[in-house]
Amino acid sequence: MAVESQFVLGLDLDGCVADFYGRMRQIAAEWTGRAESDLTTNVRYGLPEWGLVDGEYERLHRFAVTQRDLFMSMEPISGAPQSIRRLGSEGVRIRVITHRLFIRHFHQTAVAQTVSWLDAHAVPYWDLCLMRDKERVDANVYVEDSPQNVLQLRAAGKDVIIFDNSTNVELEDEPGGRARSWAEAEGMIRARYYAWLRDAGRPLPPGLGLPPEGVSNGGITV
Ligand SMILES: [Mg+2]
Repeated sequence: MAVESQFVLGLDLDGCVADFYGRMRQIAAEWTGRAESDLTTNVRYGLPEWGLVDGEYERLHRFAVTQRDLFMSMEPISGAPQSIRRLGSEGVRIRVITHRLFIRHFHQTAVAQTVSWLDAHAVPYWDLCLMRDKERVDANVYVEDSPQNVLQLRAAGKDVIIFDNSTNVELEDEPGGRARSWAEAEGMIRARYYAWLRDAGRPLPPGLGLPPEGVSNGGITV
């Protein structure tokens, strides 16, 4: 069976799989000379709550990526690798879609850190898309935390699950819904996947993390 006939999960990394804001808080404490505990976790996109002045977010972000190995040193969001491994084993095709190539002449490091991190945390994937315009990459469902990306995907008619954090609280949950943890996200993705399998007249996985009949090798349909 062709690869195109798989159910595809379009997966954002920063803020969904990797704890971007947790690691940035540590680095921002060093950058600003303030105690980490003084930096609120209730942040918006661009981190104005941490007292960064105009243009400083970009400088901090660049420092974090180039001098503190941001893409290698983030912790996974709790439960993310395990949920993604289960879904992958059940036959969902994991398609990572991340916009990380925003620093000129730094792409080799950005890509190498991204791939190393995914391997180091045993996050399975078949496709790695490094691009900004995520709606141009096809997927059956997307997981996203950035308000701008959620709205862009919705405008393109895509099914997108909001991965909850303080940057996206003002977004309407519907359509698509909001996941407050990976336990919730996993259930929401699985419900869509099972509905897709039923529509296609295909067998469901016999249990969580188990491949359906005829699927092996971590989700490659044979
Ligand atoms: Mg993100």
